[in-house]
Amino acid sequence: VAMNDHEQGVGTPTDQHEAALMAQHKANATILMLARNGDVDSAVRSAMRLEDKFNSKFRYPWVFLNEEPFSDEFKLRIGNVVSGEVKFGQIPREHWFQPDWIDEEYAKASRDELVSKNVIYGGSVSYRNMCRFNSGFFFLHPLLQEYKWYWRVEPDVTFPCHIDYDPFQYMETHNKTYGFTITLPEYVETIPTLWDATKEFTAEHPEYVAHGNSMGYLSENNGDSYNNCHFWSNFEIADMDFWRGEAYMKYFEHLDSKGGFYYERWGDAPVHSIAAGLFQGKDKIHFFDDIGYGHAPFTHCPHDDGAWARGKCSCNPEKSFDYEGWSCLKRWERIFE
Ligand code: GDP
Ligand code: MN
Repeated sequence: VAMNDHEQGVGTPTDQHEAALMAQHKANATILMLARNGDVDSAVRSAMRLEDKFNSKFRYPWVFLNEEPFSDEFKLRIGNVVSGEVKFGQIPREHWFQPDWIDEEYAKASRDELVSKNVIYGGSVSYRNMCRFNSGFFFLHPLLQEYKWYWRVEPDVTFPCHIDYDPFQYMETHNKTYGFTITLPEYVETIPTLWDATKEFTAEHPEYVAHGNSMGYLSENNGDSYNNCHFWSNFEIADMDFWRGEAYMKYFEHLDSKGGFYYERWGDAPVHSIAAGLFQGKDKIHFFDDIGYGHAPFTHCPHDDGAWARGKCSCNPEKSFDYEGWSCLKRWERIFE
């Protein structure tokens, strides 16, 4: 792996005052965004929103990743809106592109089939690269090695409430590994054999399946079939050491060997959710009700315990996704009843 040129530059120079403010962050954490140079407008909007609502107070560092070198414009414009340190990294080729052992003819035929069924991103290879990267590789990137925690952010997301506490510290204090705001079912056409591959893995490795896991959220029949519920991974506050651990690494290798990231269109959201749900106790996962979050077409707006008023939220609490027909939140909550 040519790892010497990944770090393409560090953002704004810091003076002593800024250095003192940067010292405010408490957890070993970073805010992470995967983006293309062409996403610069929407990436800047997201970064500024999270700075305004959270990070200008806490000053966590940012990491941006891309399979191509980031442009000077991207680095300049991001550097202009973020507080604290920012790093821009390039993704190693072998962590991104479709591997040579994938049968491209078969992969193409299955892409065409998904296009004919009007499945979103059905014909896209780059989307599949992205899903596989987010499933099995991002946490191995050299720029992320020093960090345990990450907050995943995407271009053009919104944060309608003020976040006046440190969610990373919350995760640490409460012994959590995975935090989410929105849960919904995956398009079944994108993952027809994901559950079979999962059952194969857990049959081979029953030792990785935790007692007190979240199977009751993932399945209506105790694991016979998958109900397609997953945590929407465009927002994640999570512990990379869980992904780096033996159970998840072996699970990813097993899934990858099936070729389903290319022969189907397996998303990182169901892959992360199934693993987080099965290979650890359900108490490791946290629903961040008090973090308002929007990614088109859905918004989570806080409703419990006065969180909406405390956060001075701009979203309509009556329109939160949580209990709409498509939400899986009821299924998440039922396992704690
Ligand atoms: P959606 O949320 O499922 O509609 O997918 P997005 O288009 O938002 O992509 C998910 C994330 O991956 C976003 O952070 C995108 O900026 C990023 N992304 C998607 N495709 C690519 C790509 O080909 N290259 C890079 N560098 N980032 C990508
Ligand atoms: Mn998105």
